[in-house]
Amino acid sequence: MRYSVFSLLAQAFQGHKGWTPVWRDPAPKAEYDVVIIGGGGHGLATAHYLASRHDITKVAVLEKGYLGSGNVGRNTTIIRSNYLLPGNTPFYELSMKLWEGLEEDLNYNAMVSQRGVINLYHSDGQRDAYARRGNAMRLAGVDSELLGREQVRAMLPYFDYDNARFPIQGGLLQKRGGTARHDAVAWGYARAADSRGVDLIQNCEVTGITIVNGRAVGVETSRGPIRAKKIAMAVAGNSSRVAAMAGLRLPIESHVLQAFVSEGLKPLIDTVVTFGAGHFYISQSDKGGLVFGGDIDGYNSYAQRGNLPVIEDVMEAGMGLWPGLGRVRMLRHWGGIMDMSMDGSPIIDVTPVDGLYLNSGWCYGGFKATPASGFCFAHLIATGAPHPVASAYRLDRFATGHLIDEKGAGAQPNLH
Ligand SMILES: Cc1cc2nc3c(=O)[nH]c(=O)nc-3n(C[C@H](O)[C@H](O)[C@H](O)COP(=O)(O)OP(=O)(O)OC[C@H]3O[C@@H](n4cnc5c(N)ncnc54)[C@H](O)[C@@H]3O)c2cc1C
Repeated sequence: MRYSVFSLLAQAFQGHKGWTPVWRDPAPKAEYDVVIIGGGGHGLATAHYLASRHDITKVAVLEKGYLGSGNVGRNTTIIRSNYLLPGNTPFYELSMKLWEGLEEDLNYNAMVSQRGVINLYHSDGQRDAYARRGNAMRLAGVDSELLGREQVRAMLPYFDYDNARFPIQGGLLQKRGGTARHDAVAWGYARAADSRGVDLIQNCEVTGITIVNGRAVGVETSRGPIRAKKIAMAVAGNSSRVAAMAGLRLPIESHVLQAFVSEGLKPLIDTVVTFGAGHFYISQSDKGGLVFGGDIDGYNSYAQRGNLPVIEDVMEAGMGLWPGLGRVRMLRHWGGIMDMSMDGSPIIDVTPVDGLYLNSGWCYGGFKATPASGFCFAHLIATGAPHPVASAYRLDRFATGHLIDEKGAGAQPNLH
């Protein structure tokens, strides 16, 4: 069913009783050309691009919970392409371009809002680093602007400019960055993939990967065995657990990242801001809640809930930037499991097991990558060759030393 102003009007005259379900609820078949493990943003986007760009529709997405129950429905919705390194920039810029046409492509309102992303700087050294990043972005055809303190103050008057422990000197702005409604992105990709014949199978946990003569030929699931010519893993924080089913050990650690939403407020902040002197980022949702987050919890975990010390740490950073936040009541918080890679960059690659493909290592920046990740993963699965903009995201780079360490932080997940 195509959504348009005409379908809305037609439904209005019928009392909105004719809307069809957004996707089917099929039973798993015995065999598919491609089985995608994980019904998060990346798995669903991969299914959509396999079907729409490569005409591969005998595809199943297997999700252990409900679609969007993982990180895609838990993130703080920030999208941007403000990267420094050549291994990253073209990939994230492709993603930004796909975001810009996403709603037309999917015929679904994902509430993509290019309200800008500002990274604040608080020292001369940080300003120089941001100037370098901004110049690299512009050379790569990505928009960026270095702002001085008064330009930032005009946009964000409520912050503490005068008595702060870390005075704001300015910021690096990417105007095309912003937010998208996270769960609508999952629903939009799901609906588009389903409409081309992809089976989206919920409550179907993969419990084993069947390997015959070094080749992955199927999966064991809580709803029975399924054979497949190709098997693609897109399970984010559960990557190590699922890869272990095929005997693989990944350069990934799983950590919890928490997000926070305040009570609804009148419009206060119309862009996305990251604090440069601590780990804190904030925006305001269309419902009025301030949406913010900070660091990962410092221990490994597969639990989708966080702990109190990080809550204190995030609130402290927020107060350091914006003392007025102390008057705001926090409404909700939750956690998601992050697949933290050892250089902070993702993996989109084949694995040592024939027929088994890996999409992982998104750390806490994988939401903005959703369109390009699905696009490039589908390209790899369909053609057997990496997409040119994702060719640096090799699994063997951790052995060969071709790391893509955007922050120069080393193998320190908490610093990515
Ligand atoms: C609090 C928080 C804030 C974030 N903020 C941002 C942000 O502002 N911007 C940004 O770009 N990124 C952000 N991220 C990161 C981003 O959400 C993730 O990197 C991205 O969503 C991961 O890809 P995904 O959507 O495919 O993962 P998920 O949605 O987690 O999908 C993986 C799916 O695999 C399923 N699965 C796991 N094991 C199995 C199994 N054995 N069988 C079947 N299914 C299985 C899971 O149930 C899950 O649904 C944030 C994440 C969190 C948690």
